[in-house]
Amino acid sequence: MTVSLALDVKAELGEGPIWDARRQRLLFVDIMRGHVHEFDPVSKGDRVHHVGQPVSAIAPTTGGDWLIATRHGFFHLNPDRGDVKPVALVEADKPTTRMNDGYCDPRGRFFAGTMSMAHEKNAGSLYRLDPGGRVTTIFTGVTTSNGIDWSPDGRLTYYVDTGTGRVDVCDFDADAGTLSNRRPFVTIPAGRGKPDGMIVDAEGGVWVALWGGGAIDRYLPDGRLDYTIDLPVTHPTKVAFGGPDLSDLYVTSAWIGVPAEARASQPHAGGLFHCRPGVKGRAATLFAG
Ligand code: CA
Repeated sequence: MTVSLALDVKAELGEGPIWDARRQRLLFVDIMRGHVHEFDPVSKGDRVHHVGQPVSAIAPTTGGDWLIATRHGFFHLNPDRGDVKPVALVEADKPTTRMNDGYCDPRGRFFAGTMSMAHEKNAGSLYRLDPGGRVTTIFTGVTTSNGIDWSPDGRLTYYVDTGTGRVDVCDFDADAGTLSNRRPFVTIPAGRGKPDGMIVDAEGGVWVALWGGGAIDRYLPDGRLDYTIDLPVTHPTKVAFGGPDLSDLYVTSAWIGVPAEARASQPHAGGLFHCRPGVKGRAATLFAG
């Protein structure tokens, strides 16, 4: 599989890629710089929106703007004017935590979690944001809340707390928006990196970015490793399917995790990478608000 550099963006902590089908753009964030990137694969143009605070995840909404997870809460970001509008605060009383990855469930609610910026274990949580702005705690005791996505039939939720070294799977109650019966789905072997962002494709395959492992794994719904895509950087963060027919795979990465002595050998660390793996993704559910 040929992996190419789509955008030599040198993101410090590139994250949260998601395809905005309405605008035909690949959105992603550079978390601590507070940047939202809007990449046009046709023109190769990259528009950068400055949020003014850490921004860790983004989702297009039914209203035509974007929902973003910022350091301590959720905001709407207007793609045309660039202004933000608050939705709900999260852990605003905790100075050492920030929000991290998030994604919409099949009903258009947004699930996103938190993590400690001071390397405290189990200091984070996973939350669910409902369209009206109500925030509900789903899990506590999370170390680094990361990728979350649903099986194509909507009955399962896959979830990564990077601190566990695993991808877990839960039963999903779509009406209630609740997770139950959490159990291990895949444990990443020691030395292969840490599970970070995660996405489920149209066939139910589970794609996991291996932070520090320089690769993306695809797992079958039964948990078997299907194949691995090796990357020219050690710190991929998350993948997203995009393009007109969702057959383009994009990978964000970070240079902040690359040890200083290794940076010379990874000139494109922090870049946005692209390949066509032969399997298609699913359109991201819009946030219903
Ligand atoms: Ca992440």
